[in-house]
Amino acid sequence: MSSENSIVVVGAGVVGTATARTLQREGRRVTLVDSDEPGRATSFGNAGFIAIDHVLPLARPSTLKKIPQMLMDRNGPLTVHPPSLPKLLPWMARFALASASAAEVQKGVDSFGPLMAEANIAWKAEIQASGLGDLFRSQGMLYVYESEQAFLDGAEERALQKAKGTEFEIVDGNGARALAPGLCAHIVRGVYYGHGMHTINPYRVVATLAERFVEEGGTIVRGRVRGFARDGQRVTAVELTERSLPAEAVVIAAGRASGELTRLLGFNAPLVAERGYHVMLAPDNVRFTMPVSPSERGFFITPMQEGLRVAGTVELAAPHQPPSWHRADLLVRHLRDIFPGVGGAETSRWIGERPSLPDFRPAIGRAPRLANVYCGYGHQHVGLTLATATGRLIAKQMAGEALPEALAACDPGRFG
Ligand SMILES: Cc1cc2nc3c(=O)[nH]c(=O)nc-3n(C[C@H](O)[C@H](O)[C@H](O)COP(=O)(O)OP(=O)(O)OC[C@H]3O[C@@H](n4cnc5c(N)ncnc54)[C@H](O)[C@@H]3O)c2cc1C
Repeated sequence: MSSENSIVVVGAGVVGTATARTLQREGRRVTLVDSDEPGRATSFGNAGFIAIDHVLPLARPSTLKKIPQMLMDRNGPLTVHPPSLPKLLPWMARFALASASAAEVQKGVDSFGPLMAEANIAWKAEIQASGLGDLFRSQGMLYVYESEQAFLDGAEERALQKAKGTEFEIVDGNGARALAPGLCAHIVRGVYYGHGMHTINPYRVVATLAERFVEEGGTIVRGRVRGFARDGQRVTAVELTERSLPAEAVVIAAGRASGELTRLLGFNAPLVAERGYHVMLAPDNVRFTMPVSPSERGFFITPMQEGLRVAGTVELAAPHQPPSWHRADLLVRHLRDIFPGVGGAETSRWIGERPSLPDFRPAIGRAPRLANVYCGYGHQHVGLTLATATGRLIAKQMAGEALPEALAACDPGRFG
C-alpha cells in the first residue's frame, strides 16, 4: 500500500475511534470521518460494562422461544416498535433461522471465544496507551435473579463460561445483598464476576480516544459520507457532501447506518436498530460500586461519574422512528423495584440504537469483492466491549495477517 493517502475510517463511535487509534499506532496515516462529534451516537449512552463474559450469541433457541411473548408485551425486556413491524419482518425471519440452526449458534459460540479473549487484552492495552485509567473501574459485576427458575435458565451460559475459563461466584440472596447494599429482599440469587470491569463515562472514553488520536497526528473530518469513488475493486476516495477524501483503504464503522454505506459498495449488511434507553439519576444512597443487572428484566444499573445510570431493554425498530419514552419510564420503575430508595431525581434520558445483525455476530474484516475496504459494525449489545478488539483484528488483516479461523463466522460477506 502507498502511504500518500489516508486510511479513511467512517464513523467515530467507539468502534471507529478505537480502530483509528490502533491503525495510527501501526504507523498508518488515518482520517476519521463522522457527521457528528465523536462518541455522540450509540456509544454515548451504554451501560459501560466490558462484557467479556458474553460468550453465547443472542440468536439461539431460548431467545427465539420468547418472541411470541415479546410481540405481546410492550413493557417486557424485549419488544417491537409496532409501526416498524412490516419493515422488521425480513430481519426477524433471518434471526429465527439463525437461532434455530445448531450450526449457526455454534459459529457464534466459536467466534465469541477468540473475540472476548482479544477484547480483554485489547482494552488493557488501550487504557494504558491512551491514558484512560481514570475512566475505568475494576469492581466486578453482579447479575441478580428474582426467581430460582431464572437463575437455572442461565446454566447453559455459565457452563460455557466455565469451560472457557471465566471465573464467577454463585451467591444466595443475602450474598447478593452483601455485594450490592440496598438490593431488595426478593432477590434469591446472584452471580458475581469478580474480574468485571466498567467505565464510569462511556462518552468520555470515545472523546479521549479521539483527543489522543488528534494529538498523535490523526485527522478528524466532520461530514456525512454519501458515496465512494472506485477503480475496479479498489475504493480510491470517500465522498462527503462538499469534498472528497482520497483513500488508501476504507473502514466502515458507521454503527446502525453501516448498511446504507455497504449498499453503495455492493454488499449487504442487514442491520436493524435494537433500541435501548438510559435514564440518569442523582446518585442518592448508592452504596455499591459495580454494575448490577437484574437478569429477567434485561437492564443494567451502573454507578457512573455523573450519577446513577439505568440502561437497557430492547425495542426492535426500523430506522428514524420516534422514541418510545415509556421504555425509559419502565427502567426507572424497574430500578425502584430492585433497589428501593436508591437513586434520586432524574437528570437526563437518552435513546440509542444497537447495530444488530440477525445472527448476532459482528461483521469484522475485509469486505466481499473489494480489495481495500474493511468492516467493523454489527456489534449489538457488546460494541463497547469489542471495539478495541475490532480495531486490532482489522489492523492485523490490513497488515496481511490471517484472522483466527473461527472469525470466518464474522465475515462481512456472509449476507451477500
Ligand atoms: C442501552 C444500551 C446499553 C448498552 N450497554 C453496553 C455495555 O454495557 N457494554 C457494551 O459492550 N456495549 C453496550 N451497548 C452496545 C454499544 O453501545 C454499541 O454496540 C456501540 O456503541 C456501537 O458502537 P459503534 O461505534 O458501532 O456505533 P455508534 O456509536 O452508533 O457510532 C457510529 C458513528 O457513525 C456515524 N455515521 C453513521 N453514518 C455516517 C455517515 N454516512 N457519514 C459519516 N458518519 C456516519 C454516526 O454519526 C456515529 O457517530 C449498549 C447499547 C445500548 C443502547
